[in-house]
Amino acid sequence: MNIILLGPPGAGKGTQAQRLVEKHGMRQLSTGDMLRAAVKAGTPTGLEAKAVMERGELVSDAIVSALIGDELDSMGAESGAIFDGYPRTEAQAESLDSILEARGRKLDHVIELDVNEDALVERITGRFTCASCGKGYHDTFEKPQVEGTCDKCGGHEFKRRPDDNAETVRTRMAEYRAKTAPILPVYEVRGIVSKVDGMADMDEVTAAIEAILAK
Ligand SMILES: [Zn+2]
Repeated sequence: MNIILLGPPGAGKGTQAQRLVEKHGMRQLSTGDMLRAAVKAGTPTGLEAKAVMERGELVSDAIVSALIGDELDSMGAESGAIFDGYPRTEAQAESLDSILEARGRKLDHVIELDVNEDALVERITGRFTCASCGKGYHDTFEKPQVEGTCDKCGGHEFKRRPDDNAETVRTRMAEYRAKTAPILPVYEVRGIVSKVDGMADMDEVTAAIEAILAK
């Protein structure tokens, strides 16, 4: 089973990918992570990528394809792949088809965690954590039982991440839409795109994804 998992930042994509990895022994292929790992390990592709980046240039599709090929070759045939952050363009979508086909694999599903932008803004901007113990809270969904006091450690200081603000969330959402816009139609015509309500409870999202994989 090979899938593409799509979702804007804050939709819980990381959690769902992790669950798929744990439950099905799938491997998450994030191009950014693979690139960093290959550079660090000094593989031939990694060295090539490093030289390109040192020149201040963007890593080519050919290098990214090689990285994905290497990663798939290192996995057992029974182990599925979750593509994350790739493909971004129609050309990359075609490359991915060839890479998979060359290894007797195919893309089975494209699963998009669908979010309501206003609700996502509320979800993200309401987040805060205890400065002492790190326990997470939310202005609307999970307030401390006693206002201003941490339930877990009794601390009185809380902090918010500076990028948890409405403007940043809306900018990221727009970037996400721009990135997925070129590839969704490619897969929609094949009838392999499924949308899951990313605003639902995490376990419900997991159940919805499982139902798609079982199709
Ligand atoms: Zn605390």
